Amino acid sequence: MELVATRNKGAEDVLPSESYIWQNTERLMADTAKTYGFREIRFPTFEKTELFIRSVGETTDVVQKEMWTVKGRESTYTLRPEGTAGAIRAVLQNGLLNEAMPQKIYYQISAFRHENVQKGRLWEFHQFGAEMVGSAAPAADAQIIQMAGDILNKLGISTELHINSIGCKQCRTKYYEALRAYFAPDKEKLCETCQSRFEKNPMRLLDCKSEICKGIAANAPIITDYLCDECAEHFAKVKALLESLGIEYTVDPRIVRGLDYYTRTVFEFISRDIGAQATVCGGGRYDGLIEEMGGPSTPALGFAMGMERLILAMKAKENGSSDSVCDLYIVAADSDSTGGKALEATVRTASAARAKGKWAEYDLCGRGFKAQMKYANKIGAKYLVVIGESELESGTVRVKNMATGEESETALDAVADVIG
Ligand code: ATP
Ligand code: MG
Repeated sequence: MELVATRNKGAEDVLPSESYIWQNTERLMADTAKTYGFREIRFPTFEKTELFIRSVGETTDVVQKEMWTVKGRESTYTLRPEGTAGAIRAVLQNGLLNEAMPQKIYYQISAFRHENVQKGRLWEFHQFGAEMVGSAAPAADAQIIQMAGDILNKLGISTELHINSIGCKQCRTKYYEALRAYFAPDKEKLCETCQSRFEKNPMRLLDCKSEICKGIAANAPIITDYLCDECAEHFAKVKALLESLGIEYTVDPRIVRGLDYYTRTVFEFISRDIGAQATVCGGGRYDGLIEEMGGPSTPALGFAMGMERLILAMKAKENGSSDSVCDLYIVAADSDSTGGKALEATVRTASAARAKGKWAEYDLCGRGFKAQMKYANKIGAKYLVVIGESELESGTVRVKNMATGEESETALDAVADVIG
């Protein structure tokens, strides 16, 4: 029969031989986030489409081109293209704004975008994200950048930190005018999407991936020349804090980020090891978002890391930590005279080892003695024990260290203790 189970384009399987890399990475992220006081939040995979249009922004690629939207009976829903909208919706809906500020949350989620599938660009991908709600202080920006950098360093990934300030609404009014004046003579040459964004959000023109638009944008005015005094001062303080933490950065006035909700500080961590889709982490401040979503005006900021790109970068460095291996393989050598008692003792010994957190195995495929020994070798078991007639009689077994070949004699019920 033909296999109907073919995988969809843009969605990946993680096999048992690699899932430990994901688990170790996710654990390291959660543990690091905890040291900064961030706790996990979980929220649904889908939200009302309207939430993403309002928060991500109607002039963004995500909203205009990339959302997976389904019509339900009562409303139209979208699979989350990112985490911030859903996380902040959950914060608002559950009254977390009434608790002590700042609220620090993180999440590990799948996200969905209908894009051109390439290496590091998928339809279903995964993010580790963190959000801090309720602090307008430059120290919050520095802490969020420090935490992201800390995680990337611990994963052994070399990245460059690029930062920028895209100001507030006030700075942007003047800046938008300057951008429109700059692009106006070439307006007809811009791609259709950029033409449609020219009036409403000309900053988006700097983020276009088309070569023609990129060329036209090359000498566009830069936002940092248009920052109001408060935004300029905020940015200066963030930079000073990063310097005092010894965190290297480059100010890149071209970073505008792909989501409309950002204000002031924006940043990206870029890896040189994974090809064209090089941004492994993106984030920034979004002081206007909570109010935009119908909540009280509350400053906030965050970042998201793309798990697939991180894992590509870790593999490029060959520094995925190692997987665990089988601790104990027990060969049940039953004969006519033992009548199944060896298997019973094997099963009990394996249970005792598991109770101590050990990975214990015995044959489930009807293999003979020799084939079992071969199998134990193949799976790389650390210790091997044979239970047969004489072991049952004496109540002792020989525990073989498979790496060194050394053997030691032990009481059957003490096997779990000696394979430490
Ligand atoms: P890009 O410019 O590469 O499209 P973005 O600005 O759209 O990225 P964000 O919305 O900031 O990305 O998402 C944060 C991170 O999530 C990115 O830096 C990236 O690592 C990852 N990411 C985003 N989209 C995808 C995707 N389609 N497939 C895999 N990872 C993705
Ligand atoms: Mg994108």
